[in-house]
Amino acid sequence: MEKIILGASGVETSRIGLGTWAIGGWMWGGTDEAESIAAIRRAVESGITLIDTAPVYGFGRSEEIVGKALSEGGLRGEAQIATKAGLDWADGKVFRDARPARIRQEIEDSLRRLRTDVIDLYQIHWPDLETPIEETAKALDDLRREGKIRAIGVSNHSPEQMDAFRAVTRLDTVQPPYNLVEREIERDVLPYAVSAGLTVLSYGALCRGLLSGKVTAERAFEGDDLRRYDPKFKPERRPQYLAAVAGLQTLAQARYGKSVLELALRWVLDQGPTIALWGARRPAQLDPVGGIADWKLDAETRAEIDAILRRCVSQPLAPTFMAPPLRRPAGV
Ligand code: NAP
Repeated sequence: MEKIILGASGVETSRIGLGTWAIGGWMWGGTDEAESIAAIRRAVESGITLIDTAPVYGFGRSEEIVGKALSEGGLRGEAQIATKAGLDWADGKVFRDARPARIRQEIEDSLRRLRTDVIDLYQIHWPDLETPIEETAKALDDLRREGKIRAIGVSNHSPEQMDAFRAVTRLDTVQPPYNLVEREIERDVLPYAVSAGLTVLSYGALCRGLLSGKVTAERAFEGDDLRRYDPKFKPERRPQYLAAVAGLQTLAQARYGKSVLELALRWVLDQGPTIALWGARRPAQLDPVGGIADWKLDAETRAEIDAILRRCVSQPLAPTFMAPPLRRPAGV
């Protein structure tokens, strides 16, 4: 397993991270605790030592399952936990709130649910546009000085917002959406991270399963699964993306004897100081892990990947549909 240090924190993790949003169930059509625990343990035992979670994933459920899997499995010492703060919720709706008082409460709730006394990486989930970023940054700086967190990160922040954050404290990581078909960060966030020495935790590395090669035109998503609303999965656009995936699968197989999933995760790792967050919730989904490390895409293949995408996807769509609304309105 390839390793990386998170920014200037000294915290070393694997370059593949397990994403546990789906393990929380909310927006992924429910969860299965036993399967989730088995997936987390399989991840750590296979060298995927970074586990990314958040309080909002299942409104505490994902953190609880991560805490149970690691502590009862005796694996806490081998894993690095990345969680987040700055989102509030009520009646299944999510709002931004990164005021220092809320962060003080959130860290205690997360430590309890995760059954630990320190968070390896603590990230602000979405910028709270109604709280000065400097106040939020100061709150995290205090937590680091108190030894409750080891590294500090932000997610879904612009370079300007990160500048404001870094004026107050050392920032180690940024977590934006990034995968073969969602490349918006190449314009600003990725070059910024490189120049500022930040590690990039790329989320949606499989584009919510599209790049697994297992999504078909017929597959229906049940309950609250967010792919019912994701424009890339709608009948108007899904055939374009599936045609691209088929082309990428053929290319990966012919050039390297790899699958499209392995190609997609390798592509993220070849882009810079990156970590690929892989959202898996069943142990068998992690079987391909051995096929991702220790090879690189050559220039010709990279050009061919881009040509396939240009040919198949006429107007690439950004992942903006996931952004939560601002502060909780009074009375909600
Ligand atoms: P993802 O990793 O791109 O895709 C997850 C999907 O891939 C799941 O639906 C799963 O399918 C499918 N999958 C995984 N391995 C597979 C395999 N071997 N075969 C077939 N299908 C497979 O999406 P994500 O979970 O949204 O993103 C990864 C992580 O990034 C999240 O879990 C979370 O930790 C983080 N994230 C952060 C933010 C943020 O705002 N900071 C936003 C989004 C995500 P099934 O549905 O069949 O299980």
